[in-house]
Amino acid sequence: MESILVLTHADESGSALTKASLEAVTAGRDLAARLNAELRIGIVAAKPQLLSKGLLCAAPKGLQCAAPVLAVAGEAFAQARFASDAAACTELCRAAQPTLVLAPHSSRFARVMAAVAHRVGGAIDTHIAALGGAEGFETTRWFYRQRIEAVIRRDKRPWFLLLEPGTNPAFAADPHAPAAPSDQIAIAVELPELRTQVTGFRAPKVDEQTIRPDAQLLFVAGAGWTKKQPDGQVHTGEAAELILKFLRASGASLGSSKSLVDQGGEGNSVLPFLTHLNQVGQTGATPRHAKGLSTCCHGEEPHVVGWRFIGERRAVNLDPNCGWTRGKADVVYIADAFAVMQRVNALLGSSDT
Ligand SMILES: Cc1cc2nc3c(=O)[nH]c(=O)nc-3n(C[C@H](O)[C@H](O)[C@H](O)COP(=O)(O)OP(=O)(O)OC[C@H]3O[C@@H](n4cnc5c(N)ncnc54)[C@H](O)[C@@H]3O)c2cc1C
Repeated sequence: MESILVLTHADESGSALTKASLEAVTAGRDLAARLNAELRIGIVAAKPQLLSKGLLCAAPKGLQCAAPVLAVAGEAFAQARFASDAAACTELCRAAQPTLVLAPHSSRFARVMAAVAHRVGGAIDTHIAALGGAEGFETTRWFYRQRIEAVIRRDKRPWFLLLEPGTNPAFAADPHAPAAPSDQIAIAVELPELRTQVTGFRAPKVDEQTIRPDAQLLFVAGAGWTKKQPDGQVHTGEAAELILKFLRASGASLGSSKSLVDQGGEGNSVLPFLTHLNQVGQTGATPRHAKGLSTCCHGEEPHVVGWRFIGERRAVNLDPNCGWTRGKADVVYIADAFAVMQRVNALLGSSDT
């Protein structure tokens, strides 16, 4: 019989678990119900008592009324750091003795989990997109930019699985669930010498971040924004203004075609806020947003392959023969994107339109 440990960690505020951690809890609860397995949840946080309340009712009905929560507490665990996180996760595993360990594929846990698996004599697989199997237990992940789907089975235990964020709904405690019968169990950790001191974070301001994985909408800018327009001129400055106004007003995430981000390196007119991290496609990202709006982008296959997980697709292009009109978008507006986005910004009531 399998026994499952879901490892979770607090977000930067320290007062909540990360969304990806809560998604792992959902995956653990569903898997425990399917395999009729024991479920435990482990928390790494400075003050885990703030975080475990809702989790105590995470276990599936019929198994046990609560998922026991094991917690590592202390200021050393407020920050992501290899030495302290690896020690914490190892002790949680030693205490729970699981056969399967589920954890979010966050940068914090991806950094330490292979070492933890090694320390407890287990095996690890990363980027897991699904937990399934009609007979027995198997996992699924993608290779080569979502073109090859692999099904993985292993006999070795404990088997660590880092789950891709966005592949499960985040766990939300049932407000009507019975009160938890037991509190969380504190797990002591003997810390090794900590040579790394985390002195703070340097991150761009929220409104400067153009990649927003949680946004409902992906807005893609193509190379057309920086090309000569019908008046024979380029309008890169105006393009940048229109795009940024739209991103501010809509909260959309910004994607780009390869041609547009490559232009910076070729010394051409370029949008200053775009980097290769914005690139969507075969050699770029494959984001997961509910909706996508492509502008001034031709919709060639190496780009559109990155839209694999985008549900509703719309495009604005001057060319009625562009790739989007060939079944790659639900709606294509044959129009000038400058005019369309000006109007859209006005409708959104963007304060500085
Ligand atoms: C091995 C390989 C890997 C690749 N990987 C990727 C990848 O990961 N991602 C990617 O994006 N590409 C990738 N490409 C490149 C891809 O094939 C295309 O060259 C690229 O996507 C084209 O970018 P674009 O559509 O922005 O530019 P263009 O092809 O230059 O298209 C610009 C479009 O803008 C339109 N336009 C211009 N002005 C306006 C206006 N005012 N209003 C509306 N529309 C307007 C034009 O009609 C045109 O359709 C790859 C290619 C190869 C060979």
